[in-house]
Amino acid sequence: MKAIAIFPKTHEVKLIDHEEPKITTPTQVKLRMLEVGVCGTDKKITSFQFGTPPAGSEYLVIGHESLGEVVEVGPEVRDIKPGDLAVMVVRHPCPHEYCRACRMGHQDFCFTGDFTELGIKEAHGFMTEFVVAEERHMNLMPRELRDVGVLTEPLTVAEKAIAQVWQIQQRLPWIDPNTSAQMRGKGLKAMVLGAGPVGLLGTMVFVASGFETYVYSRSKVPNPKADLVEEIGGKYISNETTSVEQLAEQVGNIDLAFEAAGASQIAFDVMRVLGPNAIFVFAGVPDHTVPIKVDTALLIRDHVMKNRAVLGSVNADRADFEAAIRDLGVFKQRWPQVLRSLITGYYPIEQAPQLLLGSAGGIKNVVTL
Ligand SMILES: [Zn+2]
Ligand SMILES: [Zn+2]
Repeated sequence: MKAIAIFPKTHEVKLIDHEEPKITTPTQVKLRMLEVGVCGTDKKITSFQFGTPPAGSEYLVIGHESLGEVVEVGPEVRDIKPGDLAVMVVRHPCPHEYCRACRMGHQDFCFTGDFTELGIKEAHGFMTEFVVAEERHMNLMPRELRDVGVLTEPLTVAEKAIAQVWQIQQRLPWIDPNTSAQMRGKGLKAMVLGAGPVGLLGTMVFVASGFETYVYSRSKVPNPKADLVEEIGGKYISNETTSVEQLAEQVGNIDLAFEAAGASQIAFDVMRVLGPNAIFVFAGVPDHTVPIKVDTALLIRDHVMKNRAVLGSVNADRADFEAAIRDLGVFKQRWPQVLRSLITGYYPIEQAPQLLLGSAGGIKNVVTL
């Protein structure tokens, strides 16, 4: 069957013939892949910054943002049947008994580093025709979300972030843990850095949680992403025309910042103007560039004096996937056009190498199978 693979030794990215997988345990499910999203991580893998084939293989099948349709199930599969749509989790647990994170199903917090990530680290991914995996690594997707289901995985980045933020902010004695999800951001301001797919999906999450939400990104207005932000109910501000100091003056206290672009200079600039008790979440991975100068003493002083928390967040657990699927339903009701327009291009698998190696514009490009 067809697959897109990278060959780290020869630095090739190409369409290959890959052996079709078979169900080998009673609890496995076989999926026909429908769509696979392409993101910055894939670009880093196809430019050989990272990405590791499984042991014994000279290549890695890439793709981790999946949407598939079930074609076959093992005899002990209970909750999934042929015809169902499903999205797969990306990270699988490490084998170590002492890794409490993995043993509890929270491999996104694995502390041994010996986890695998499908399409990224030591396990083949989804940019291929069929995939077999254990039922417990799949999340069911309602049929009515077929057209946007491939956005689940990028959405989990923001879902994990907000779940963490909510837990951490329980430190504030006046926060009522029983507040409904839609009211948690009421009266608070969120600042999203970057207007790529994760930034825009994050904007939806924060607006839907009641935050007054701003997006601070490069392109000057007017631009199509700024229009999307406004349609979601956020406010777009360009960092080309508004300095961080002007931003702080315009917005007032920032309670939550979500960095989804991997832009390190802007991140540290915005960190300077966070409000009291604020949280800054790093979710983007920057390219390694020349070091920048930061006034560390000032930054530390302000973090101490204002009780701020800085958090890194990677990957997602099952609850985050479930939250993402639930929220896609909410977003589809609330912003049907905007949600659809996040997917800006569909490419057949034969064209995937050009897509991965080129500089296709748009927001989220998707490989169809
Ligand atoms: Zn991705
Ligand atoms: Zn682990």
